Amino acid sequence: MKKITNKKSNTSKTALSFEEAHNFLLSRIENIGDVETISLSEAKGRICAEDIRAPFDTPRTSNSAMDGFAIKFSDLEKQKKKSFNIIGSAFAGHPFCEKVKSGEAIKIMTGAPLPEGTDTVVIKEETIVEHNLATFVEKIHENQNIRRAGEDLKFQETCVSKSQKIEVGDIGVLAALGITKINVYRQIKVAYFSTGDELKKITEPLGFGDIYDSNLYTISEMLDKPSIKPTSFGIVEDNQDKIKKALLKAASENDVIITTGGVSVGEADHLKNVVKKLGHLELWKVEMKPGRPLAFGKIKNSYFFGLPGNPVSAMVTFEQFVTHALEKLSGQKKSQALTIYAEIQTDIVKTNRRTEFQRGILTQPRKGQFLVKKLDQQSSGALSSMSRANCFIHLSPDLKTIRKGELVLVQPFSNMINTPEN
Ligand code: AMP
Ligand code: MG
Repeated sequence: MKKITNKKSNTSKTALSFEEAHNFLLSRIENIGDVETISLSEAKGRICAEDIRAPFDTPRTSNSAMDGFAIKFSDLEKQKKKSFNIIGSAFAGHPFCEKVKSGEAIKIMTGAPLPEGTDTVVIKEETIVEHNLATFVEKIHENQNIRRAGEDLKFQETCVSKSQKIEVGDIGVLAALGITKINVYRQIKVAYFSTGDELKKITEPLGFGDIYDSNLYTISEMLDKPSIKPTSFGIVEDNQDKIKKALLKAASENDVIITTGGVSVGEADHLKNVVKKLGHLELWKVEMKPGRPLAFGKIKNSYFFGLPGNPVSAMVTFEQFVTHALEKLSGQKKSQALTIYAEIQTDIVKTNRRTEFQRGILTQPRKGQFLVKKLDQQSSGALSSMSRANCFIHLSPDLKTIRKGELVLVQPFSNMINTPEN
């Protein structure tokens, strides 16, 4: 890590590799820690704040995994012929409640509790039924076709862990255990705004040199998670007083402030100086492309993330840094973006020693086989690349020339990709 002093602006920046920046950022973040109780139907995507333990065995009682006949296995040895008297039926929801005696069988359906005195189920298809007699025609193993009590979850076993993001499967498990209220970490409050005199709301007419503010929309979508409560502060002009006012208001009501623009070395880039006056600021020159300047700091109790204004850089730095920082703040376990290796379809010549996130199109000609094509347009201002692409091609600093057919690391934007065009 080295300090770089920019003479023009008198701002010192710390040069960090992508990994260093990532680790530094996470080392400075603490879980907010406040807990609230919510109902199960609100829990998807929230972060569990305790180890939830099973209040009983599941299944609660041993039951049949198939439709067939329940018998006691040891009776088979006693019988000369493998024939049993059928003395009753057991259905899911309508158990057979009497004790089954030696040589007797119960007609049983999937999910019905195993009647007392039985331990084995023979499936219907392997049974010949004549009058009230069941004769078994295949080899039988003790305890076959049984779901044993507690084989899914034992009484007091942890079923959802502290710091786990609650997913659909977890909701199912909690419902099966009759757990209606869950303790989760409270949502983190995130304020975000764009800075720039050239920015207009998308409903306003554009003057000469104006552009529409797209960052407000991409940031809003990237914050759209159950563990986050976002508030937009809209567009703030490149004016020290207005920026100061917005930051102070945001800091008084939120855990996190995210801004885009105004953190480079231009004359209208006021954010860094204002944050420095109001709190604490670290300015990092991250050796990544796109991205580069990343401002991180604290104003009162709020964490501050100053992202670059370039729309692609804003999205990439959000995805690669802010997402993980917000996860840690919300109490979530450390997660990692899914990465896979894909065969590159054209040569890539890399001329710098930065970590690059090139935008690419990933295809899957056959399940488990991946091809990736980089987009020609890789400018950090060209937002269409984020729309046309479906993945980042993650190039580490040491890579130079990558030849067609070699494997590159790819981070898909989603776990679903379009099927290749024919
Ligand atoms: P800055 O980081 O403020 O120097 O901005 C870098 C580039 O990104 C400039 O071309 C800006 O016009 C553009 N930019 C900044 N903020 C936004 C935004 N919210 N939406 C779209 N483009 C932006
Ligand atoms: Mg600007």
